[in-house]
Amino acid sequence: MRGGSIMTGVREASALARALLDFALPPRCPGCGSITPGDYQFCTTCWLALEFLGPPGCIRCNMPMPFEGMICAPCMDSPPRHDGVHAAVAYGEISRRVTLRLKYGRRISDARTMAVLMARHMAVTPETLVIPVPLHYWRIWQRGYNQSALIAGYLVRLQGGTLLPDGLKRVRRTRSLSGLGKKQRAKEVRGAFRVPEVHRSRIRGAHILLVDDVFTSGATVNACARVLKAKGAKRVEVICWARVVHHD
Ligand SMILES: [Zn+2]
Ligand SMILES: [Zn+2]
Repeated sequence: MRGGSIMTGVREASALARALLDFALPPRCPGCGSITPGDYQFCTTCWLALEFLGPPGCIRCNMPMPFEGMICAPCMDSPPRHDGVHAAVAYGEISRRVTLRLKYGRRISDARTMAVLMARHMAVTPETLVIPVPLHYWRIWQRGYNQSALIAGYLVRLQGGTLLPDGLKRVRRTRSLSGLGKKQRAKEVRGAFRVPEVHRSRIRGAHILLVDDVFTSGATVNACARVLKAKGAKRVEVICWARVVHHD
């Protein structure tokens, strides 16, 4: 994998160059690309269209609920492996566009804007291990970076905690989960993640904050939480930019 890691290094360098270029250009809204007065800001239209999330929420997964102390139907159906999900905004038109621009549009500085809005949901101690949901190395090679790792880096800079960028490894390529049912999603990601040998002693007894861009069904983070807990992690919370919220 030596060649692979050199190539990844080259791509990371070009991603960094691109990030520097972002800073040299006038700041743009992560939602629509219009020029904004300051860095890391949304334009007024996009800002007003974002649906910010907060309590009350499901006591297991923080899904917005009408009252405190309730459990949402999916958690009642099958309790999650993680210990709660903290999301900045609901998944919708604007939050989706922000995610796609970061992922495919190489708008790397948008990761910081997302992190700023996520940070207020983040309660960590210096010992909390902040781990991004990993991409398969092939995906990283294609894209040049892992968007969740970029966000995780900014979160730690803003709020503290200990960044462990390779605390989890994706050992198997997985299909896109969109369009799959709940059972199929869980099956698709089972066995896809592993805790590298070198980090096993740190994971034991640790409080972990898992970082992802979008929370949909929870299949991916559940698979991650499962392997982390199998290695002795005490608590695995999830923080993400956007989550799918069912208004019914
Ligand atoms: Zn905008
Ligand atoms: Zn729930």
